Amino acid sequence: MATESFTYADFTGWLAEHKLMGARCQSCGALYAEARPMCPDCFSDDMAWEQLSGHGKLAAFTTVYIAPTAMIEAGYGRENPYVTGIVALDEGPSISGQVVGVDVKDARQVAVGMPLQATFLTRGEGDAQRTFLAFEPAD
Ligand SMILES: [Zn+2]
Repeated sequence: MATESFTYADFTGWLAEHKLMGARCQSCGALYAEARPMCPDCFSDDMAWEQLSGHGKLAAFTTVYIAPTAMIEAGYGRENPYVTGIVALDEGPSISGQVVGVDVKDARQVAVGMPLQATFLTRGEGDAQRTFLAFEPAD
């Protein structure tokens, strides 16, 4: 029986504590890098949060010039594009996030397969403050 909560709000709550947490199925062992109240593989609801290392490799990426509102508010857009990517984590699952610490305008700086590590970005003030998952080149 599920005793923990597995909502997106729980996931972002972990991010605020600078923890990247995945959901591990206690029945079949499958691991998901996002909030999952039920295992999509075996339909068990016996899930548990598990902290992920945050280390992985860039699997795919795109440079975003037409930014969504939240990113425009953070200063991004046509004049200041950003990179968002899919990162294949060392533990197996993949997760998306902004890729920071690279020169977006120098395409050679961003490549599929480059090692990355999770970093946590805080945007907004007061009640509107949110922590976002991002990735930066690994040391
Ligand atoms: Zn399962």
